[in-house]
Amino acid sequence: MLRAFMTRSSSPVDVHGLSALVDSLVRTHRAQYASADIPLLRKAYRIGEQMHRGQMRKSGEPYITHPLAVTQILAELGMDTTTLAAGLLHDTVEDTSYTLEQLRADFGTEVAWMVDGVTKLDKVSFGDVAEAETIRKLIVAAGRDVRVMVIKLADRLHNMQTLGFKSRPSQVRIAKGTQDVLIPLADRLGLYALKSELEDLVLGIMEPEMYAEIGEYLDGRGDREARVEAARRKLAPQLREVRVAAEVVDRPRHHYSVYRERSAGRPAGRHDPLRLVLMVDGSETDCYAALGAVHNTWRPIPGRFKDFIASPKFNMYQSLHTTVFGPDHEPMDVMVRTSQMNRIAEFGIIAQLGPAGQRAHKGPDKLLWLTRLLDWQRETNDSAKFLESLRCDLADEQILVFTSQGRQVLLPLAATPVDLAYSVDTRLGDRLIGAYVNGRLVPLSRGLADGDLVEIITAEGGDYPGPSQEWLLTAKTPQAQLQISQWFAGHRDDRGEKALADRITAGRTALKAALHQRDRGLSTDEPLMRLGRDLGYRDVDALCLAVSDGKLDAGQLADRLIDMVDRVPLTPWHAVAESA
Ligand code: MN
Repeated sequence: MLRAFMTRSSSPVDVHGLSALVDSLVRTHRAQYASADIPLLRKAYRIGEQMHRGQMRKSGEPYITHPLAVTQILAELGMDTTTLAAGLLHDTVEDTSYTLEQLRADFGTEVAWMVDGVTKLDKVSFGDVAEAETIRKLIVAAGRDVRVMVIKLADRLHNMQTLGFKSRPSQVRIAKGTQDVLIPLADRLGLYALKSELEDLVLGIMEPEMYAEIGEYLDGRGDREARVEAARRKLAPQLREVRVAAEVVDRPRHHYSVYRERSAGRPAGRHDPLRLVLMVDGSETDCYAALGAVHNTWRPIPGRFKDFIASPKFNMYQSLHTTVFGPDHEPMDVMVRTSQMNRIAEFGIIAQLGPAGQRAHKGPDKLLWLTRLLDWQRETNDSAKFLESLRCDLADEQILVFTSQGRQVLLPLAATPVDLAYSVDTRLGDRLIGAYVNGRLVPLSRGLADGDLVEIITAEGGDYPGPSQEWLLTAKTPQAQLQISQWFAGHRDDRGEKALADRITAGRTALKAALHQRDRGLSTDEPLMRLGRDLGYRDVDALCLAVSDGKLDAGQLADRLIDMVDRVPLTPWHAVAESA
């Protein structure tokens, strides 16, 4: 449905055009949300329009068309009226004379709070850290109420859709910021409908030729619609026979999904196979009956059937997948799911939201990751460090591991038993002495994999060794790093914290000397940070420690640094909180 929204043409809008947009918003909201509060929606529009009056977008349209479009996206996602009101007002406090106090008086604390969550901190009072702090503020707000993040993502989606009016450098900068932070955030929350639209838009900006070429590949033989219709007709009698009502929808893949497959070097046919979704109006059992109908109509390709209904993916995705020899004996992918399963597949977390934006569903917790990040951000005052860590965290693939107590814990890929212990409980981390992974004793530096079963062994009693300094080198999560450091800070005397600091300094000095020999120096730690990350070290300290411990050669490291700095221009951090 977002795709349809996206392709709608945006001809310049006048006053009549505006009221048509408002009517369409009202209609969508009524259709998608049972207890829609239309007077509230209209009031938010009235005030938003009044405040933005006279402001124009780069396209020459009245500014209010932007909040309207953002809110239309929110309405199509089935969000509640409070969220929609905040959507209509989301840029007022940032860009008009309307204050947060007035907004609170007019609309109440909830709407005001949501608008505040997506309002950028100004450069005047925050200076260089404004961007980093804006993102932190957004994440803190989303941790309390995930609807704030949905507004931010809808805002960015519309800004990306209308990026054509901006200069090429701005386009690239905004697209990169979207790719680095907002797309991973959408992914973490399971907002796949928004995520894939954003991915396609970023690809269209960054690689326009590739995008066009993939478009042709996806169009295939050009008769896609006719072939889908033929498949639909062929399947209908079989579905009737098993008494299942199902809508048969064509779901071509997204450009980005083809792009990723090509980047991975996987071979592809001349055109993309047909890809159908059977949206079953009924129960799980009806899904299996519908699958039977599909397999009765076309011969299944062996080994391609997957049952994600009986075993949902950890993001709660449920569907039956099969590939059959479809029309003209060409392979055709078919997915079978109920409409509720479809909603979760497309909207993830917001398919399970209660009226106040709180999660209604108990299951593997998608917000665990966010909670973890929030715990950590509360303890760091350094916004640059927070951002760095956020970007690392977002760049990492997530895995789900199981503890022997039956807990499920979401961790970044290659996290260690140390990370697991600290993410469960600080006490568990401090007392950690060993770990079994899938029944075998492993080193505590061992990287964990998706689905691992981990048993943590802890020391009992008052006397225990406490964390080792080596853990700092392999632990991946910020909170393990932080808690290990805190432990050392509290045990400075008997644990040789000073010795650690000295070793770090020694490593850094060795590296500086090696650079100096090569007539080079470093003005910032940024290249070190990047190189450290490439080599698998959490931060610069860990890298320096490895140098001082003789695990890395200072000379070789200096050569690599120079090579890296000379070849790749440093990219500055890109704002996520762009409002176009
Ligand atoms: Mn905006």
